[in-house]
Amino acid sequence: MGKIQMSTPLVEMDGDEMTRVLWKMIKDELLLPYVDLKTEYYDLGLPMREKTHDQITVDAANAAKKLGVAVKCATITPNAARVKEYNLSEMYKSPNGTIRSIMDGTVFRAPILVKGIEPYVKSWKKPITIARHAYGDVYKSVEIKAFQPGVAKLVFEGKDGTVTEEKVFEFTEPEGGVLQAMHNRCRSIKSFARSCFNYAVDTKQDVWFATKDTISKKYDHTFKDIFADIYEKEYKAKFEELGLTYFYTLIDDVVARVIRSEGGFIWACKNYDGDVMSDMLATAFGSLAMMTSVLVSPDGNYEYEAAHGTVQRHYYQHLQGKKTSTNPVATIFAWTGALNKRGEKDNLPELQAFAKKLEKATIATIEDGVMTKDLANITTFPAEKVTRATSEEFIAAIKERLEKLL
Ligand code: NAP
Ligand code: MG
Repeated sequence: MGKIQMSTPLVEMDGDEMTRVLWKMIKDELLLPYVDLKTEYYDLGLPMREKTHDQITVDAANAAKKLGVAVKCATITPNAARVKEYNLSEMYKSPNGTIRSIMDGTVFRAPILVKGIEPYVKSWKKPITIARHAYGDVYKSVEIKAFQPGVAKLVFEGKDGTVTEEKVFEFTEPEGGVLQAMHNRCRSIKSFARSCFNYAVDTKQDVWFATKDTISKKYDHTFKDIFADIYEKEYKAKFEELGLTYFYTLIDDVVARVIRSEGGFIWACKNYDGDVMSDMLATAFGSLAMMTSVLVSPDGNYEYEAAHGTVQRHYYQHLQGKKTSTNPVATIFAWTGALNKRGEKDNLPELQAFAKKLEKATIATIEDGVMTKDLANITTFPAEKVTRATSEEFIAAIKERLEKLL
């Protein structure tokens, strides 16, 4: 059998630590034997970021904009300890942050559901996709420690000469207090809204959005208004044709509704809500290692990755020559997501079919009871049905099932 052909290359962004080890295993065992894999390779591993002063990350993000589909391995975001460990000349910024700001998109995270790993919330039957606005708010805020009495003001000097000033608070106690100012851009909120509605049309799911507009009558209310306006003008007709709904409510109300729901919708979240709620959802659905993540830009470029990090603790065991039981599922699904999207864009049904089969083989492996440790620890299957596999054994078990499907 000949290998499955590709026409346009994928942007391949390699990464760090245990996920870099898995990356190579996935390629060698599950992809290269079957697909004539075309990629434009960018090594985002920390040593190469150091060597290029992080230019490689910028180049990779620009390549993703040019070629339209990228797949990324987890990468280290350096902190002080990493600067020492890797002898870095700078504490480089988060690669994901850099890529997000160049591609300007929204991050969609969805759990992979399998039999034997049951959500903690009994009513959840379908995945809940979190759409996290990846710009601004508290992540781009400025702060002041105002540890003395004084007056805090928020001032805006308009280009047209108008000055708007609001008193924030007058501190009277000797120990003062703390201050924070944050912003968002209408343009970014608009592209967030469009990304969510596009993704809904793409995946045929409803959109739920919530803020605290009753309290934040200007800031959060602007998010609500922009979503409503774009929905009315650009998406309402399409949604009605597809039988989809756009539902807006308050953030506390939506949390209660999400818990009572069956799942199967896109939950659009402001930046901070998305940060917090995506970890809650991942855990409640079973495991962070079963959470996929895709960055979608308003102009239709896609970057697929796993939601988890580089699994540092396992990597140190691997370096000591010990076998690890690290779950590669989310990384495999990053590849299948990217291959499927490439197939869709280039009209390559065989490539899309391969991606679907690899997903099927992966799910079947778990449902047959072959699991990495993280899943074996939480499965509802009886112990005698479960085979605890090392990373290598797990990938080999997937390969065996994939070959039967091909
Ligand atoms: P992590 O890599 O997500 O791992 C945290 C813990 O979760 C692991 O120690 C492991 O628990 C469990 N885990 C996560 N993924 C797993 C998998 N695939 N299979 C089995 N268990 C898994 O987070 P971290 O240790 O806090 O961060 C490590 C590095 O990743 C950091 O340098 C951080 O900057 C980076 N990071 C990158 C990204 C990204 O590139 N998207 C995202 C987050 C973090 P046990 O040890 O108990 O087995
Ligand atoms: Mg977080």
